[in-house]
Amino acid sequence: MPPRPVTPPRPPSPSPGGGSNAPQPKLEHLLDAMAFAKLVREARLDDKYSGLHPDDIDAIRNPPEERLDIVDPTLRLSLDIFLALENTLEESYAAVRAAIQRYDPACEMFSYKQVLSRVKLLTGVVPIYHDMCINSCMAYTGIHAELSLCKHCGEPRWKPSAARDEDDPDPATNGLRVPRRQFATLLIAPQWQAMWHCHAISFTMKTY
Ligand SMILES: [Zn+2]
Repeated sequence: MPPRPVTPPRPPSPSPGGGSNAPQPKLEHLLDAMAFAKLVREARLDDKYSGLHPDDIDAIRNPPEERLDIVDPTLRLSLDIFLALENTLEESYAAVRAAIQRYDPACEMFSYKQVLSRVKLLTGVVPIYHDMCINSCMAYTGIHAELSLCKHCGEPRWKPSAARDEDDPDPATNGLRVPRRQFATLLIAPQWQAMWHCHAISFTMKTY
């Protein structure tokens, strides 16, 4: 794998208030808005708020150049089963794959992660999930990423702990931090890449 390109540092952002002598707001919601504006100005693909997997960052910075052949029988079989098992667990796909390979050991069906990677390449749909208030008041992003209660209605961010494993020190895996509600962001960069990756669509984009 080629080394990941290093993003040069950005010059320092201008003060959101227009300079050190400019009057600064005192109201909390204005301070929050200024803090979010600063985060947006300084946003990076690999900052701690992006939620992007390192593989997806690599894919954005290094667009695939090989042509994906959807008529390839192995890819087609894998895609058909992946789509038929919509919204199911990885284990279900693996069980179907194992059954097919038991019937025909020569069948080199894609693994779940492999077919998911192909689906991302073909569609450009790369969702990023963030937690949100159960009542849609706010999102737990940016300066609110560490909050556990909604600032507006007070509803808790996490579901009550169902099964606490005292031996597991990681709250993200022991059932203590299961979000009550999430929203998905679909990135535009992978979608543009997928469109340019398709010969027919890229021809149309160049034409118009
Ligand atoms: Zn709320």
